[in-house]
Amino acid sequence: MIQVTMPLNFLGTVYREIRQALVDMGQMFGLLDQPPEVQDKPDAGPLAVSDGAVELHDVHFGYDTDRVILDGISLTVPGGSTTAIVGPSGSGKSTIGRLLFRFYDVTEGAIRIDGQDLRDVTQDSLHAQIGVVPQDTVLFNDSILYNIAYGRPDATRDEIEQAARAARIHDFIAGLPQGYDTQVGERGLKLSGGEKQRVGIARTLLKNPPILLLDEATSALDSETEASIQSELRLLGQGRTTLVIAHRLSTIADADEIVVLEQGRIVERGTHDALLARGGRYAALWQRQQSEDAA
Ligand code: ADP
Ligand code: MG
Repeated sequence: MIQVTMPLNFLGTVYREIRQALVDMGQMFGLLDQPPEVQDKPDAGPLAVSDGAVELHDVHFGYDTDRVILDGISLTVPGGSTTAIVGPSGSGKSTIGRLLFRFYDVTEGAIRIDGQDLRDVTQDSLHAQIGVVPQDTVLFNDSILYNIAYGRPDATRDEIEQAARAARIHDFIAGLPQGYDTQVGERGLKLSGGEKQRVGIARTLLKNPPILLLDEATSALDSETEASIQSELRLLGQGRTTLVIAHRLSTIADADEIVVLEQGRIVERGTHDALLARGGRYAALWQRQQSEDAA
């Protein structure tokens, strides 16, 4: 998977952190072979994050001019709160994540973080403030230590172990004959989906970003592993602004706001309880998933 770095070399000065963010993001959104299209403005300054409030204001977007993908999306995620985006496949959920990370620019409207338009800040400062946790964490063919420290290459050994403890992977690592020096990846120790996810969470905890973007890409995990990972993602989201793109509604029932997307428009929004009581699209999706689970 290291070949991912090749098409990104055009960036010239490729900071590890940015590259990692792009790798995670690329992995998450299936954009590995696609370079970001946007450029920093000559006078772009660093993003200054205070509360970490994220605002989409009347966002319109299409990958091509002849097809609208997002058609006037407005939503606000107050600092430290969680908004979940749900909806059928192809409705534009992941596209919102790509725009927040500024893989593309909106065609109309604006996205702001603490009032700053994404187009006015440098991409490296933006990427440094957003932690991306894909369902399938990318591991490099290197030691576990390196893989966790990738979130912040200057971290001390203590900080790395602390992050691993918080992600509940330290005991597992410490129990390996070579501990943190264990080689992982293609030619090393194969980690399970859950273990990889925990390494990814440790990496993100170490990076400590104020804003989190979770895309629960199709989960191949068994329900027990998924439940434990969900509880860890919740832990990670504490005190951070979190945008979660959800496929399994059971994982986002406690979000502060849930928005239901259909064909690039928000068709419903509210809390889980309010949406269930409403008996609309969300309630129907919920019932369908409940009966699928029972089957
Ligand atoms: P979701 O995450 O809700 O399943 P996406 O945001 O990934 O949906 O995609 C929304 C629509 O945009 C889909 O119809 C998809 O085919 C299209 N799309 C996604 N990525 C691209 C791309 N790079 N170029 C053109 N169309 C795309
Ligand atoms: Mg998606």
